[in-house]
Amino acid sequence: MTVFAVNEIFETFQGEAAFTGTPSVFVRLQGCPVGCAFCDTKMTWHVRPEHEIEVGAMIAKTEDAPTWARLHDEDLAMLVGEFRARHVVFTGGEPALYDLTEVSRRLIDQGRTVQLETSGTALIRIDPHAWVTVSPKIDMPGGLKVLPAAVARANEIKMPIGKPADIEKLQAFLAEHPAVGVAYTGSGPALLIWLQPLSQSEKATALCMEAAAANGWRLSLQTHKFVGVR
Ligand code: SF4
Repeated sequence: MTVFAVNEIFETFQGEAAFTGTPSVFVRLQGCPVGCAFCDTKMTWHVRPEHEIEVGAMIAKTEDAPTWARLHDEDLAMLVGEFRARHVVFTGGEPALYDLTEVSRRLIDQGRTVQLETSGTALIRIDPHAWVTVSPKIDMPGGLKVLPAAVARANEIKMPIGKPADIEKLQAFLAEHPAVGVAYTGSGPALLIWLQPLSQSEKATALCMEAAAANGWRLSLQTHKFVGVR
């Protein structure tokens, strides 16, 4: 049995990468040792006992806060099952810190689809039918490496891009993991590679468009922000 520290659960539309436009329940798990400077969920980094709250208070939360509620697999799957959206996204924090095998199996048994968004720095434990998005966090202050096993499990790679050096990092990363370097096979996309401009900046967006066009990669635009939802 896995016990989760859950920061928040909310319904919205997935705005990024392959599931863009999909009504989704987001489950944000607490805890992340990666330490990205650009992180926009820094409130999830630490699981502090003094920040534990009741499940009802966690569900009612509307603002970013480091508070979390304790839930185990069965209760978490039941709670998520009360939402309308059929697609469930585990995010964080770093959700791969937790063993997601049981909860993802329960959700898939409910007829839902499950997606994991991870930095790739922790071993992925999830149902084989889940969709895995690895957003590789390379050379971050936490000093963690992106694991080859996480890359091998990925269905798509989503790289945050702020400057030209990030494109170079991605190229070096793909060279290290040759199996993921192929954008297409004869029968369609093999492993999808998305470039996502940081903070929707014009400069980063132009850089991503150029690199996507040159390499056969794709553009992920955080479309939820265009329509003003989380
Ligand atoms: S991996 Fe994600 S949650 Fe963790 S520090 Fe980086 S951006 Fe933030």
